Amino acid sequence: MLRDTYIEIDLDRLGDNVAQIRKRIGPDVAIAAVIKADAYGHGSVTCAQTIMEHGGDYLAVATLTEALELRNAYPQYPILIMGYTSNENLPHVVKNHITQCIFTEEQAVELDWLGRELGMKPKVHIKYDTGFHRLGFPDGHESIEAIKRICKLEHLECEGIFSHFSLASDEENHRQYNALKAAAERLEAAGCRFKYRHICDSIAAIDYPEFRLDMIRPGAILYGMKSFRKNDLDIHQVIRFVTKVAYIQNIKKGEGVSYNYKYKADRDMRLATITVGYADGYPRNMYEVGEVTIHGKRAKVVGVLCMDQCMVDVTDIPEVRVGDEVILYGDESENAVTFAEAAVKCATNKNELLCRFTRRTPKVYMKGGKPVKVLNALLPDVDELEGI
Ligand SMILES: *Cc1c(COP(=O)(O)O)cnc(C)c1O
Repeated sequence: MLRDTYIEIDLDRLGDNVAQIRKRIGPDVAIAAVIKADAYGHGSVTCAQTIMEHGGDYLAVATLTEALELRNAYPQYPILIMGYTSNENLPHVVKNHITQCIFTEEQAVELDWLGRELGMKPKVHIKYDTGFHRLGFPDGHESIEAIKRICKLEHLECEGIFSHFSLASDEENHRQYNALKAAAERLEAAGCRFKYRHICDSIAAIDYPEFRLDMIRPGAILYGMKSFRKNDLDIHQVIRFVTKVAYIQNIKKGEGVSYNYKYKADRDMRLATITVGYADGYPRNMYEVGEVTIHGKRAKVVGVLCMDQCMVDVTDIPEVRVGDEVILYGDESENAVTFAEAAVKCATNKNELLCRFTRRTPKVYMKGGKPVKVLNALLPDVDELEGI
């Protein structure tokens, strides 16, 4: 390895998580696996294949660029853009057989026109706003009439209709679900045919089995993040974030550490320096709350985090040597800080922590407990596997 700091991505676990979701929902509900934001930091191109081989039906992303990255790697997988694409970019959507979310009649007409021009029939999923107020046709009569007209367009396939939960309360979840279902029923009574009606993200897909309709859009649970409340699911965190000890030193009581000497040693201490900083996606506000795991024991982050390094207190782990493994995020079974624990420590959510990894930090993909692929965005042409 050319860098000691990397994220380890367990493809077996990713596959198992998808299989667990499939087992839970049964064969009749489609899984649109949400792999936006580089598959929540896991690497979308590599993860897509594992997901599709273990029960995924569709890949869902937020932007055209994310869709094109996947399309370049996989000519066949169905891909849905859940977000907005401007008219000037719609030709890329159509030519690349990507399914587009739409929420205006004007864009439907534009896509229908492109379909005719290019001799194709672009697929769309109609976004219906049941309260979130992000994107979508506003719930109501005028929208229903507009969508009826869209369904009649000749060069367009209205494959789906969907909405998104705010997850504000149990009562509000039911109201939003009922609003989407009622709209779909009115449209179907008028001759529209939707293969996929969908509203469930990860949390709703597990906690509200009765809301799954024809498709679910799980993101977080693919990666083992548990935020559902009412039910459990046997899934596991896919990422470990690790580094190695770079330097060890002893400091005296009263001496300062890092910028502004903001931290002052309250006793004689032994410190280990690790080459992980906020530029690697480890949050700067881990200052005063961060903990890492070395030899199965917790060591506190001391001093303000730097961009590329930070210091941890190893006074009570005397066996630590330069080169020893340090776990920043890992499993409970190895006494490591999980994403769930880290999110509480630095007052954010698990998804945001996953999205913070940067291109400097290589990704090592594991299968059967062994590395099978290394992705180093800085050195894409170097085959690092030889060095492992
Ligand atoms: C991100 C996203 C999801 C997935 O959300 P999770 O909470 O990670 O399951 C589903 N639907 C839409 C529209 C999204 O933007």
